[in-house]
Amino acid sequence: MTTTKGTQQIVVLGAGYTGMLAAIRVAGRTRRHGGHVTLVNPSSRFTERLRMHQIATGQSLGDFQIPDVLDGTGADFVQGWATAIDPDAREVTVTTSDGTRVLPYDRLVYALGGKADRAMVPGADEHAHTLDDPAAAARLASRLAEIARTGGTVAVCGAGLTGVEAVTEIAESFPSVRTVLISRDVPGAMMGERARAYLNRALERLHVEVRSGVEITKVLPDAVELSGGEMVHSDATLWTTGVRAAPLAARSGVTTDDHDRIVVDATLRSVSHPSIYAVGDAAAVRQAYGVMHGTCQSGLPTAVHAADAIGGELRGRRPGAFRFGYLHQPVSLGRKDAVIQFTRADDTPRRWHLTGRRAIAYKEFVSSSPMTTYRLSKLFPLPSRALWSRGGRGNPAPRV
Ligand SMILES: Cc1cc2nc3c(=O)[nH]c(=O)nc-3n(C[C@H](O)[C@H](O)[C@H](O)COP(=O)(O)OP(=O)(O)OC[C@H]3O[C@@H](n4cnc5c(N)ncnc54)[C@H](O)[C@@H]3O)c2cc1C
Repeated sequence: MTTTKGTQQIVVLGAGYTGMLAAIRVAGRTRRHGGHVTLVNPSSRFTERLRMHQIATGQSLGDFQIPDVLDGTGADFVQGWATAIDPDAREVTVTTSDGTRVLPYDRLVYALGGKADRAMVPGADEHAHTLDDPAAAARLASRLAEIARTGGTVAVCGAGLTGVEAVTEIAESFPSVRTVLISRDVPGAMMGERARAYLNRALERLHVEVRSGVEITKVLPDAVELSGGEMVHSDATLWTTGVRAAPLAARSGVTTDDHDRIVVDATLRSVSHPSIYAVGDAAAVRQAYGVMHGTCQSGLPTAVHAADAIGGELRGRRPGAFRFGYLHQPVSLGRKDAVIQFTRADDTPRRWHLTGRRAIAYKEFVSSSPMTTYRLSKLFPLPSRALWSRGGRGNPAPRV
């Protein structure tokens, strides 16, 4: 590992779930070995992305300030947008309210996450809402409040877990609003039969109309067009299907896949620029069962692995291979119900699932666990093979 003025500069881009954990952990792992960590994020408030559907229905969330979360770690916080990476010169350009800063790095952790892919059909970009960030969720909240006053229809496109969580939250909070869930797949398609049946009963109870097995071809200001020309009227459309990673890496000449995720080797280093580690939704991580899909559940272990690998590199160790197996699919069904499907390492459903009150408590534990993890990580390094980062037994990762 090279040095920048005698210090190992580690820059972490993005203070979402994974960037925050990577910054805290790598600071602890490298402090005594000449490491200095800088975390870059546009907002000083930490975004709990798992709870964006709660903002969209007018609920207020805890105010966690990034400098407070970092306090005591020795890591610096730079508030700004990363606008360019020069991977050969190992520099990141950051636009802040005071102008432009160039941050040199020895190791970069790329944790910029992703957004709903509204380029999938015409009109989605112009006319559909998303749950990408608090501002987008707040815009939807004010539109929903208007519709609740005047009456109308909300169409949620995509019946994956985010779409189901959003539509149930909206239906529960605004019972006078007509809600339609539109998707190619049936709701809860990834779950086992019994958990899926429970989820469908919740949708029925909340009067959500389900249009599955259909192809969305266009989003209009007041409708969603289906293949064959059918129009589903909509006073507000929420787009939850497909995720595209931040475009910065692709723009900077780093090798990415067709979702703009950085293609990494088994140790989570960029295949084109090994001084860059990619984690979370921004990384295309291959395991024996395929490329991992972006979840907080899988993202946090990537952050832990990248931090430990960088800490090891400072001490002259070769980074090891990353392994991950899924554990669960936790889904809220409004504030008063939830269903948790337990899974095999490859995310296929096991026989067990939780419902009702126990599932609500489990889901809340999952949603609040990142903050607890950050607090504990400042006190001592949690074992990397904690429950949520099982090594994916039976799913060996490719060799380094
Ligand atoms: C409504 C909803 C519910 C979900 N529920 C679950 C769930 O129950 N379980 C689960 O495992 N997953 C869930 N997910 C998915 C989960 O939220 C993501 O997988 C997770 O947020 C990925 O973490 P990340 O750190 O990679 O990205 P993010 O948490 O999105 O963080 C990315 C950070 O990068 C910052 N950033 C972006 N661009 C720049 C830039 N140019 N410069 C500087 N900073 C930048 C962003 O502001 C953000 O702070 C849910 C998602 C949504 C939307």
